[in-house]
Amino acid sequence: MVAFFASLGEPRYRAEQVMKWIHHRHETDFDAMTDLGKPLRAKLQAACVVEPPKVLLEKPSADGTHKWLLGMDGGNAIETVFIPDKGRGTLCVSSQVGCALACTFCSTGAQGFNRNLSVAEIVGQVWVAARHLGNVPHRQRKLTNVVMMGMGEPLLNFENVVPAMSVMRDDLGFGLANKRVTLSTSGLVPLIDRLGEESDVSLAVSLHAPTDDLRTQLMPINRKYPIAELLAACARYAQRKPRASITFEYTLMRGVNDQPAHARALAKLMRGFNARLQRDNAAKVNLIPFNPFPGTGYERPPEDAIRGFQTLLLRDHVLTMVRRTRGDDIDAACGQLKGRVLERTRKHDRHRQKTIVPTINPPEGEVDAAA
Ligand code: SAH
Ligand code: SF4
Repeated sequence: MVAFFASLGEPRYRAEQVMKWIHHRHETDFDAMTDLGKPLRAKLQAACVVEPPKVLLEKPSADGTHKWLLGMDGGNAIETVFIPDKGRGTLCVSSQVGCALACTFCSTGAQGFNRNLSVAEIVGQVWVAARHLGNVPHRQRKLTNVVMMGMGEPLLNFENVVPAMSVMRDDLGFGLANKRVTLSTSGLVPLIDRLGEESDVSLAVSLHAPTDDLRTQLMPINRKYPIAELLAACARYAQRKPRASITFEYTLMRGVNDQPAHARALAKLMRGFNARLQRDNAAKVNLIPFNPFPGTGYERPPEDAIRGFQTLLLRDHVLTMVRRTRGDDIDAACGQLKGRVLERTRKHDRHRQKTIVPTINPPEGEVDAAA
């Protein structure tokens, strides 16, 4: 923005004024930006446009969750979800139209991939929610956190996601604290290292299985970046940011990865991770009860199995939370986002074939030995 205003022969503070108009006051009409002066307003009116994403559909949920279907160029649509909770409000933001990684339990993955979102399309999601909520930085705010956990694999759109996360954290943007912006990844090892060098956000890593065999069945990307390499990259990330913890996401699927043997093997991995970093709570585990979507072969485990799984981890001193399911009445829960992906890959068919329940009641020894 500074460079743009310099090209118009305008001073630096013009960039700051316009940033504030757009992101703090949610203004899209240059004519209303009264402190700019008439000639500059006319110049801007002629040369540029502030274009937020088109809201195609809004769905409020009974539990306060709010979902937007936003139209993107080319006939695609993506979804963004706001989840209010005690003392905070989290926005779940998409990074791509669809996803190429085809995890077998994910509705976005079932749709294939169309394209990366631009910086504007990523920031625009936050803008739409902030305007809806009347959010103003430095006052009591409703939007306090952003998680890059919507549609897509954010690290595969690194060039746009990292600058977009900067706008979220900048005082002239949405002014969120660094640690309140979280990037969730399926575990692309070289890009986790690059993120550690170039950004300062919280990291969440989708683990979902304690052994390579099982993880590869659920997440094909594990073939390229197996668990040991992934955990080593997470340790390097945590080492660079001594106060940050890493959250490992583990979606619980009935009869697939929810058995006591899996919990014990996961606890062992997490203990190893903590020991490597010499910090008790370096690894946090976030258990996500599976959210169903049409055509899936997976099921959510019963409540007592979820609690039992958590208890086994806690007993081993692994900090473990169960993510409360929010917005599932409007298909806004983790893994249920599908937007409208005009498919360019044929992942869909491959995915269908793969949606089989891989392992039922694995023998204890097998899981432990592999871990
Ligand atoms: N691509 C990134 C971020 C988007 S997915 C990633 O995979 O981490 C956000 C989280 O939702 C991930 O942990 C993902 O594994 C999880 N998820 C996907 N499908 C799910 C489903 N059907 N039920 C519960 N969680 C799911
Ligand atoms: Fe893509 Fe994440 Fe879904 Fe896997 S879980 S298909 S990486 S969005």
